[in-house]
Amino acid sequence: MENTTGTTQDLGGGLSLETLLVHGATPFDPHTGAISSPIYQSATFRHPALNESTGFDYSRVVNPTRSELERTMALIENGKYGLAFATGMGAISSLIKIYKPGDHLIVSEDLYGGTYRLFKEYYERYGFFFSFIDTSDFDRLQAALRPETKAVFIETPSNPMMKVTDIRRCAGLIHSRGGHLIVDNTFLSPYFQNPLALGADIVVHSGTKYLAGHNDTLSGFLVHSRDDLEDALREAQKSEGASLAPFDAWLVLRGLKTLAVRMERHQANAVRIASWLRRHPRVEQVFFTGFSDHPQYRLSLDQSRGFGGMVSFYVKNAADAPALLKNISLILFAESLGGTESLLTYPVVQTHGAIPEQMRLSAGVNDRLMRLSVGLENADDLIADLDDAFRKCEL
Ligand SMILES: *Cc1c(COP(=O)(O)O)cnc(C)c1O
Repeated sequence: MENTTGTTQDLGGGLSLETLLVHGATPFDPHTGAISSPIYQSATFRHPALNESTGFDYSRVVNPTRSELERTMALIENGKYGLAFATGMGAISSLIKIYKPGDHLIVSEDLYGGTYRLFKEYYERYGFFFSFIDTSDFDRLQAALRPETKAVFIETPSNPMMKVTDIRRCAGLIHSRGGHLIVDNTFLSPYFQNPLALGADIVVHSGTKYLAGHNDTLSGFLVHSRDDLEDALREAQKSEGASLAPFDAWLVLRGLKTLAVRMERHQANAVRIASWLRRHPRVEQVFFTGFSDHPQYRLSLDQSRGFGGMVSFYVKNAADAPALLKNISLILFAESLGGTESLLTYPVVQTHGAIPEQMRLSAGVNDRLMRLSVGLENADDLIADLDDAFRKCEL
């Protein structure tokens, strides 16, 4: 087949996700044939004449490298529109601007601490209302609805307790009230889960994690297919000014090419490590959606294509948590996830430090909880490192 316009659409439909990830929206630059998408490191663009534009005016609003990534994100997340932001928080902050004071949003209680802080410490002050609940419990979700509920915002699997919310059921419920379902899909990535195909209205990503995948750049995304929301979201992106820089957009495009192979390996390593941790005498409980006795295992199989690379666990003794963080040597003690390097996080003080103690504890985030982002190293090396760190706990 001939590919003259240099777009993936030109290759015809039916391409698999792995192929779309490698080639992106535009597999080569139609002007030069460049295989790698050019980085348009330009803040502004020359106009041919008054009232004429190349389609590019000023890079906060539109930039060719960012646009390529936005089109690619839409393609791989089953959406019509993609919007790229400097960070995941930038994406969420712009998204919330389509709502107005007086609006009520229902939010997963077990979620990224930065999202909680943004909603609670800023938007509540501006007159928004939030209910933080266990959205995996449908009865509680139903009971939290109010006449002014405009959206449900979920993370599934949740962070860090790995609870799974039924996306289809949740979409049905909020749609019956004319509201939106927003899904933060950072944990599984579009490779394992496509919430829009299950009825969600807007997908959020911290591209800092699996999408970019190398612990080297920040980014955030919104993907959706709602013609009625696109103008408002673009306007918010342009007005808030948290647009993704061209070089960082290119880094994410580069990362996406290997997303499929990375996710498979993250998951294979996570399965090995979760099973090993489960047998360890100093570990009380392991949270991993890939265990067949996970309470929502069947739901995961039904709405996702995989379980991802995140494993949380309780150590039996709280004193083991700081000892582990001190004694791991290959695995790094750092706050983030989804990159090539394995990272061990202590949610109670790091990712979830912004959440009040009572709410944290009721969600299960206590001082015995550790969260491991399983990287792409050899699984035996990772297990040996954990084994060694646990042995040092005993001293
Ligand atoms: C990291 C993260 C965010 C925030 O993204 P940044 O890129 O750090 O701003 C939002 N949601 C989830 C689930 C995350 O892990």
